[in-house]
Amino acid sequence: MDKRVEKKKLSLNERYAAMSHGLNWDTTYQPMDKVFPHDKYEGITIRDWNSWQDPFRLTMEAYWKAQGEKDKKLYAVIEAFAQNNGQLGVSDARYVNSLKLFIQAVTPQEYYAHRSFAHLGRHMRDDGLRMACQMQSADELRHFQTQTHAMGTFNKYFNGMHNPAHWFDHLWYLAAPKSFQEDAFSAGPFERLVAISFSFDTLLSNLLFVPYMSGVAHNGDLSLVITSFNAQSDTTRHMTMGLECIKFMLEQDAGNLPTVQRWIDKWFWRSYRLMTLAAMMQDYMLPKRMMSWKESWEMYVEPAGEALFKDLAHYGIRKPKGWQQACDGKDHISHQAWNAFYGYGHATAFHTWVPEASELDWLNKKYPNSFERFYRPRLEHYAQRQAEGKRYYTKTLPMQCQTCQMPMIFTEQGNPRRTAYHETQHAGETFHFCSAHCEDIFVNEPEKYVQANLPVHQILQGQCFAQDADSKAAGFDADAAVLDFCQINAGRDNLEFKGSEDDIHFENWGGGQDMQEAQL
Ligand code: ZN
Repeated sequence: MDKRVEKKKLSLNERYAAMSHGLNWDTTYQPMDKVFPHDKYEGITIRDWNSWQDPFRLTMEAYWKAQGEKDKKLYAVIEAFAQNNGQLGVSDARYVNSLKLFIQAVTPQEYYAHRSFAHLGRHMRDDGLRMACQMQSADELRHFQTQTHAMGTFNKYFNGMHNPAHWFDHLWYLAAPKSFQEDAFSAGPFERLVAISFSFDTLLSNLLFVPYMSGVAHNGDLSLVITSFNAQSDTTRHMTMGLECIKFMLEQDAGNLPTVQRWIDKWFWRSYRLMTLAAMMQDYMLPKRMMSWKESWEMYVEPAGEALFKDLAHYGIRKPKGWQQACDGKDHISHQAWNAFYGYGHATAFHTWVPEASELDWLNKKYPNSFERFYRPRLEHYAQRQAEGKRYYTKTLPMQCQTCQMPMIFTEQGNPRRTAYHETQHAGETFHFCSAHCEDIFVNEPEKYVQANLPVHQILQGQCFAQDADSKAAGFDADAAVLDFCQINAGRDNLEFKGSEDDIHFENWGGGQDMQEAQL
C-alpha cells in the first residue's frame, strides 16, 4: 500500500505568497513592455517593481469569503428596514432629498471607479498592485450595488430617484462628478491612483463616509448607514493604497517628484470642488443635525492632512496648492452651494427649501464668522418672498467651470463678496474658471479640457431637446423641452419641497411620527 502523502499546511504568509505573487509570470511570447504599455508613458520611473508592498495582503479566496459574509448581514438589515416601512421612520421627508443627491452624484461614481480599477488592474505590470486594483474594482462594484439596493426602498415611495444613470450623463449639476471620473479614467494609471486613491480616498473620503453617514443614522435611515459600515473595511484598504502608491513612486526615483506633486495639486483641488455637494448635504439636507461641514473639515481633514504632509515632506512633497483656500472655504461653500441650488431648483431632480428658523439659528451657531453676515439675510429674503407666494427661481442655468464643471458660484479666497471668475485664452477661444486652481489645471493640459462637454453650453446650443421636439414651433417651451430631454418629471422631481408630492405623501402616510415621539 502506498504511503499517504501528508499535505503540508501552509502558514498564512506562505499561503498568501503562493496564491498571489507565486501565480505571477513574466510574459515571453510578447515583451512585457508591449503587454503593459500604459505604466511607462506618463514618465514615472519605476526601478524595482518588487519593492511594492501590497497594502491589501489578501488572497482572492479570502477576499470573496469575507465580502460574502459581510453582505449576508447587510442584506438582512436592508430587508428588515423595508419590511418595517423604515422609509416612514426617517426624521422628515426633506431628508430623502439628500438620498436623491447621493444616488445621483455619488453612487454612479462608484460604478465609474469599478470600471477604472478594472482597467488599472489590467495595465499594471506588478502583480501585487494588479491584484489590489482588481479587489478595489470589485469593492466599488459592490458599493454601487449595495447603495442602490439600500436606497431602492425609498425609490418606491419618493420622486427623484428613478433614473440616476441617465441623469448622471445629462444633468448640469452632475457634470462635476461625471467629468471628475472621466478625467481620472482618461489619465494614465499612476495619475489615476493619485486622483482616486490618494486625493479623493485618502485625503477627503472620510468627510462623506463618517460625518455624513452619522447624520444618515441620526435621521433614522438604517438602510443606507449599514452600507457604509459594510464598506468601511474596503475604504480603509483604499486609503492605504493611495498613500502606499505615492510613497512607492517617490521612493523609486527622485525624478518622479515634480509630476507627483503636480498631480496632487490638481487632484486635491478637483476632489475638493466635488466635495461641495457633500458640504451642502451635510449642512442643509439632514433635517436632524449633528455636526456641521466646518466641524467635519476641522475634525477629519485638517489634522490628518497636516500630519500626512508633514510625513511626506521627507520625500519633498508639500501640501497641495489649494490646501489653504480649501481650509478657508469651510466657512462658505455649503451656504454658497445651497443658495445656488435653491435658485436653480426648477432644474434639479431633487427639492430645495429655506431652512426653518431654528435651523438658521443652528447654522448661526456653527458658522459665527460667516453665516449671519453673508448667508442668513439671503435665506430670510427667500422665505419672505415665499410667504408672499413668490418663491424665487433664477429661471436660468449657471455658467460652468471649464475644468471642474461645477457651477461658478464660489467667491474669491479672503473676499466672500466677490464671485470668483477667471478666464484664459487658448487657440483663439476664451475659457472660464471657478478659481485660479482650475485655471492652472487647464493651462497645464488645455487640450484635455477644451473638449469638455458642458451641459449648460449644450442646452444653450439647442442640443438638449428631445428628438421629436420642434424648437421652431409657435409656443415652443425650451425649459420644458430640456426637462423632458433630461427625463425630469416637471412638478414632481424638481421645484420647492413645501407642498411637493413627497411632502404631502409623507404627511398623509404618518411619516416621521416615531422620530417626533422620540424627541418628546
Ligand atoms: Zn473649477
